[in-house]
Amino acid sequence: MKISEILKNRRVTVSFEVFPPKEWDKIENTKKTVREMAESKPSFMSVTYGAAGTRAGFTTEIAREVENNGVTALSHLTCLTSTKDKIDSVLDEWQASGIENILALRGDIPEGFVFPDEQHFHHACELVKIIKERGGFCIGGACYPEVHPDSASRVEDIQHLKEKVDCGLDFLTTQMFFDNEVFFRFKENCLIKGIDIPIIAGIMPITNANQIKRSVELSGCKFPKKFEKIIERFGDNPKAMKQAGIVYATEQIIDLMANGQNNIHIYTMNKPDVAGSIMKGLSEIINE
Ligand code: FAD
Repeated sequence: MKISEILKNRRVTVSFEVFPPKEWDKIENTKKTVREMAESKPSFMSVTYGAAGTRAGFTTEIAREVENNGVTALSHLTCLTSTKDKIDSVLDEWQASGIENILALRGDIPEGFVFPDEQHFHHACELVKIIKERGGFCIGGACYPEVHPDSASRVEDIQHLKEKVDCGLDFLTTQMFFDNEVFFRFKENCLIKGIDIPIIAGIMPITNANQIKRSVELSGCKFPKKFEKIIERFGDNPKAMKQAGIVYATEQIIDLMANGQNNIHIYTMNKPDVAGSIMKGLSEIINE
């Protein structure tokens, strides 16, 4: 099913992200993770794509497993290190496999990367155009409530976001954020700019202290004082930190929903127990 239809037909959606393994011999473990996560009945599950674009087959295999478990799959696709021919062959394969939803991304720029020639992509909007021209796919894109780290300013970032949306996006998913006020301000700025497609709020449950450094490196996101206190108090106690991280993410989602944000995406870090605990904490709220 197309994600645009899911977003249109359901009042509330909670989706999960899963990432494929780095080595093929671990693929069965990830499939098991998918099966366990599917038991929590997410609205759909997204499957990430290797940053260098070298493991497209891994994403395809995991997306198929998601669909085989009765859950709609959203396959991520990055373009920065791919050629247009390579992207075409991935799209051919996905179309043949019945994959209907793609999150069209640029990918991070590796250090020292030189843009080779016109066969290569510079921005996600070029990928969106190609997928749109082909037809048949529902297309999502990424957005950044705390501004993409490559952008010189918030104004420039939102201008490029508007251009990307106009290339044919059906929905947006945000980078993780921990302060809902940041998200509400971003959503308002999108509306002012005329960006009126659904925006899915990305929530990352922080369940261990090591995740924090990595999350900041990846997203440049800031932690509110309330969360810093949790880390200070429970960061050295893995069980307590996990419990506090799950409760923080659940409360963050409840606050978003109470303020009218009905589409949530959970960066599950391939942890079915964490995803399942959050879903349990929302059981009546989701069906309200
Ligand atoms: P773009 O939309 O191209 O934007 C990147 C930067 O370029 C921004 O600063 C933007 O303002 C600027 N820009 C855009 N268009 C123009 C233009 N025409 N002229 C000048 N500047 C412009 N990475 C992976 O490798 N695999 C994944 O599976 C993956 N999944 C992700 C899922 C989500 C929900 C998010 C938020 C990110 C994900 N990423 C993933 C990370 C993503 O690839 C990086 O954040 C990357 O640096 C930017 O990708 P983008 O698609 O947002 O790029």
